[in-house]
Amino acid sequence: MSTDPVRLTARHVPLIERYRDRLPFAEGDPLITLQEGSTPLLRAPLLSEMVGAEVRLKLEGANPTGSFKDRGMTCAVSAAVREGAEAVICASTGNTAASAAAYSARAGIRCAVIVPEGKIAEGKMAQILIHGARVIALDGNFDRALALVRELTDKHPIALVNSVNEYRLEGQKTAAFEIVEDLDQEPEALFIPVGNAGNVTAYWRGFREIGVAPRLFGMQAAGAAPLVLGHPVEHPETVASAIRIGNPARWEDAMAAMTESRGAIRAVSDEEILTAYRLLAAKEGMFCEPASAASVAGLLKYGADGASQVVCVLTGRGIKDPHTAIEHNDGMIIRCRAQMDVLEEAVLG
Ligand SMILES: *Cc1c(COP(=O)(O)O)cnc(C)c1O
Repeated sequence: MSTDPVRLTARHVPLIERYRDRLPFAEGDPLITLQEGSTPLLRAPLLSEMVGAEVRLKLEGANPTGSFKDRGMTCAVSAAVREGAEAVICASTGNTAASAAAYSARAGIRCAVIVPEGKIAEGKMAQILIHGARVIALDGNFDRALALVRELTDKHPIALVNSVNEYRLEGQKTAAFEIVEDLDQEPEALFIPVGNAGNVTAYWRGFREIGVAPRLFGMQAAGAAPLVLGHPVEHPETVASAIRIGNPARWEDAMAAMTESRGAIRAVSDEEILTAYRLLAAKEGMFCEPASAASVAGLLKYGADGASQVVCVLTGRGIKDPHTAIEHNDGMIIRCRAQMDVLEEAVLG
């Protein structure tokens, strides 16, 4: 029995404990957790009205480090500790690194992250550094970083915690379980941003395991849309840095998920992403990162395709990328002298 004075409900249980019967972890295995998962499924009234369907947002930014990566990382780092690893490593556009840094800090093991130099959102870099990870800023893009790190872990006993690691997908599939548990009806369509394509693969695995089959609509940024184009993109470019990936590691798995679910992989422009990003924040009260808004941008652009129960996955929290928010918003700053008449004019005018 736990001696914890806090009474635990299902929502407060670490992800691995909540879904242990569906995950490759036995009772008594090392458990590295920050109490991830069990994230909210929020109704989106305005979006629902706009697209004529019941739209809900899966708020993955509510995870401990602010993105869905924590679901996979609790599994990947717990497994690494079980295997006796003393260090973990990953290539990352930011969130995998932030999550790996936090979970390895918790586990007391070393963490190295390889990031494309100058391409990491500020909040993510702050997270990685404060958790004490070693940051290797690579003179090259994410795809190159992943290729190098795979080669490195073939030579050294360091656990690779990118989504090529099966434990990552196992953990991430639990978001699909939660959605089905939280909805009265089965979801009919799921809109999700696609970068390295691990998450969409994991959702499909999760849905299939419990016998549900919503249509999966994967959204890529137009400047980084290899799956839409059918070939790798050498210089991926988009404001949505978390999906700035030109050669997804889970290419075949992701395409199989789209085909089997009768969904589609589609592209949205940066402008469409930023419009959805501002709309979510200004009209639904939900501040997500630009990559996350790609799911909603896709829903707005292509419609719900006849589905009446729609879920958009908001993969990460907006405050991770303050720079983009400060550059693209409909708010305003008014400079004001400390004087009542001027203040009145500034507030009411
Ligand atoms: C990692 C990430 C994605 C993309 O997920 P993949 O598994 O690489 O397809 C999307 N949004 C955010 C915020 C992410 O951190």
